[in-house]
Amino acid sequence: MSSTTTVERSSEDSTTLASDCAERERLGNVRPLDWRNPSPATRYDLVVVGGGTAGLAAAHGAAEQGAKVALVERYLLGGTCLNIGCVPSKAILRTSRLYAEMRHAGQYGAQIPADIRVDFAAVMQRVRGVRSRISRADSTRRLTSAGVDVFFGEAHFTRPDALEVEGVTLCFSKALIATGARPDTPAIPGLAEAGYLTNENAFDLTEPPHRLLVIGGGPLGCEMAQAFCRLGVETTIVQKRPLFLPREERDAAQILSDAFARDGIAVRLNTHVVNVRVESGAKIVDLVSDDYHSTIVVDAILTGTGRLPNIDGLNLDVAGVAYDARRGVHVDDFLRTRNRRIYAAGDVCLPRKFNDTADASARIAVCNALCDGRQRLSALTIPWCTYTDPEIAHVGLYVRQARERNIPVKTFTIPMHDVDRAIADDEEVGFVKINVRERTDHILGATIVARHAGEMLSEITLAIVAGVGLRTLAHVIHPYPTQAEAIRKAADAYVRARATSSRQRRSSTWLSSLGR
Ligand SMILES: Cc1cc2nc3c(=O)[nH]c(=O)nc-3n(C[C@H](O)[C@H](O)[C@H](O)COP(=O)(O)OP(=O)(O)OC[C@H]3O[C@@H](n4cnc5c(N)ncnc54)[C@H](O)[C@@H]3O)c2cc1C
Repeated sequence: MSSTTTVERSSEDSTTLASDCAERERLGNVRPLDWRNPSPATRYDLVVVGGGTAGLAAAHGAAEQGAKVALVERYLLGGTCLNIGCVPSKAILRTSRLYAEMRHAGQYGAQIPADIRVDFAAVMQRVRGVRSRISRADSTRRLTSAGVDVFFGEAHFTRPDALEVEGVTLCFSKALIATGARPDTPAIPGLAEAGYLTNENAFDLTEPPHRLLVIGGGPLGCEMAQAFCRLGVETTIVQKRPLFLPREERDAAQILSDAFARDGIAVRLNTHVVNVRVESGAKIVDLVSDDYHSTIVVDAILTGTGRLPNIDGLNLDVAGVAYDARRGVHVDDFLRTRNRRIYAAGDVCLPRKFNDTADASARIAVCNALCDGRQRLSALTIPWCTYTDPEIAHVGLYVRQARERNIPVKTFTIPMHDVDRAIADDEEVGFVKINVRERTDHILGATIVARHAGEMLSEITLAIVAGVGLRTLAHVIHPYPTQAEAIRKAADAYVRARATSSRQRRSSTWLSSLGR
């Protein structure tokens, strides 16, 4: 972090007004003030509990098939992704990237003032503007015009085929539980008393903290630490494991650690937060790393230590639905619960808590519930991406997973510094790594670390889903110069390796035929 960065802490009147307009539009879309719940139908083909990504996809999908559908949402349509997750986090990351680029403008030949001022109020105003624009797609209007009955209120089951919302009973042939997840707060003595931020309130900040501690080195913690640091906040990130993003390849996680260090984030790996207390308005945080004890002083703490399924208050026992507090609702591969009338989708039942997966699982559940479909969750190919800079994206099997399954694996890696466009863009950090089954071009998985890894990954995901081998990707013309050329280069490397090994095989056959 440049020492010359300053953060403006006062918001202009116009900023507040504009943000209020944006908020008014969003709330008007996702929870109109004058909303009246409709009179319920005698029986619904499908009642959806939860109006987040999974619930909305299910309600729209079922209504399109002509089903009589009700959707119940206790708070805001759009759920986590729109209101407190993907959308605001990606909007704030975009601005933070701009500030990072401005600080390095000199290396591109651009001259900008050394003292870059971050207008935090305007940054958050933009976040709210983005959120309100995207909220149109999740509106009550869209649902009702599709024929869905929308009920606001907390739902709980009263029978295996009925639930109640705001004192009204909704009877169903089928129901879908899509109640999502919430932040899992770490059990740290003094944390609750000191107060902390989660994704549920961090996007409501109107002033940035001077010093921020982020607890947790998963995707959420990493994205938020980088965003706030680049917006001029003195940021420390604490991760109890030896590397960030523990699921990812070690070299990918190491690149992220290095990027954080370059940004000026204080990185504390292998470190536990053991106590928090407040002194003179500041939060005093005790840390332990192996036997080394230390203390840091911050103004705010943001936790990003995982998510827990929302099952409380649903009365799942009455509905005959099996569940537990960590895994959430138990489902089979068809997303059916123990009660054959009731299905679940999204974060409430899936270990992989992603927006795209919530959407895809909801489509499967609707097909299986309403059309006697036999679509399986396990048939999905699920890619994911952490939107730090560089981004870290993955699909399919990691090398270690392939080995655990006794699948012989060969990996083709292209560093981004060998890709012309990455050099031109000064975005040379990262790699494309594609794993194939040895002696075949069958793609098992891929990891991409690059500025736009999330965009690049879709080509590999498509190849996996369509059964296209790596050899074919070598014949796909990629516009020059693009960073996605790294994928073609990895495919070229595969073709070269195959050619070399067949040449070697031919020459050893020839040599043995000569008796040598
Ligand atoms: C900060 C952050 C960033 C993220 N970024 C990404 C990203 O970049 N890409 C990505 O793929 N994923 C991302 N995710 C994950 C993504 O947001 C979730 O996977 C997705 O929103 C899950 O959708 P869902 O429908 O299962 O649950 P939710 O969106 O949480 O919706 C559940 C809804 O159910 C309602 N509800 C709960 N209980 C009841 C009840 N009893 N009665 C009525 N309604 C109820 C809730 O109010 C909520 O609106 C992010 C998450 C966070 C927290």
